[in-house]
Amino acid sequence: MATTPYSFELFPPKTEEGAEKLKLVVKRLAERKPEYFSVTFGAGGSTQEGTFETVQMVMQETGCEAAPHLSCISSTRERIRDQLARYREAGVKRIVALRGDLPATATSHSSAPGELHYANELVEFIRDEHGDHFELEVGAYPEMHPQAPDIDTDFANFKRKMDAGADAAITQYFFNIDAFDHFMEHCTAAGIKQPIIPGIMPIVNFEQIVRFSKACGADVPRWLHYGMERYKDDNDSLRDFGHDVITRLCSKLIERGVPSIHFYTLNQSKPTLRLVDSLGLS
Ligand code: FAD
Repeated sequence: MATTPYSFELFPPKTEEGAEKLKLVVKRLAERKPEYFSVTFGAGGSTQEGTFETVQMVMQETGCEAAPHLSCISSTRERIRDQLARYREAGVKRIVALRGDLPATATSHSSAPGELHYANELVEFIRDEHGDHFELEVGAYPEMHPQAPDIDTDFANFKRKMDAGADAAITQYFFNIDAFDHFMEHCTAAGIKQPIIPGIMPIVNFEQIVRFSKACGADVPRWLHYGMERYKDDNDSLRDFGHDVITRLCSKLIERGVPSIHFYTLNQSKPTLRLVDSLGLS
């Protein structure tokens, strides 16, 4: 029986109806005793307020731990200080600390609005203000962050935020396990000891995977692209195919002894729970 723990990522709902639906999804997911739920910011124009409300809902409805994603872009030290105080008062003990995406108006990293420009500065700030109160996760990019000038610079930047005091990193999703292996070799060589947790995206919609992957720089290998395209008008078959692909990927990761798996649930319980069951994780 596999014993790899796992966590579930959610995004704040945009409508009342979405909020009611999410409560049911969260209850179903919580029955499988995840380590925690994390809640994104910014998807589809949602705000940090939506993140706060969803974090509270998860904690109240399930008693599970909930971790807000917190970004520093376009913000000030004062505003981040207030957000941290509010989260701490609400009982939050874990934060996914991110820079966030550059606004379209920024011409370079350094022209990004806000007082803190990179995730390593945010991690440092949270450690300075709150010591070890929060467990801090950061983002990792086995296939390189899409705006990085090259893979070595990107890795050096990744190490900087681990050295600043991150407890663990969650990866951007990937379909190519060689990318993850290569990244892990780099981490070992660089003396990074913190857990690196693979982020896993269930395959439920062909166009969505292609769109997301283009935006975040995740490679969709040709065999997978054509394999999904074959079923683009038959969603049940696409989900079955995708389920098999992602189950194989997760099995290989579990064989490698990954410390945990982070599922990008897209606010749906079925595709993720099907994976959890097939992998014998629950
Ligand atoms: P950073 O680590 O700051 O890196 C950003 C870029 O700057 C990289 O190219 C890096 O090489 C470079 N860089 C980093 N530090 C330095 C430095 N000190 N000097 C010079 N260059 C540097 N987006 C959302 O909008 N909402 C979410 O909720 C969200 N959740 C995410 C969760 C996970 C697990 C991951 C992996 C990503 C998530 N994202 C989310 C996407 C993320 O916001 C973007 O990828 C963003 O562009 C980078 O954030 P980061 O914290 O990884 O940035």
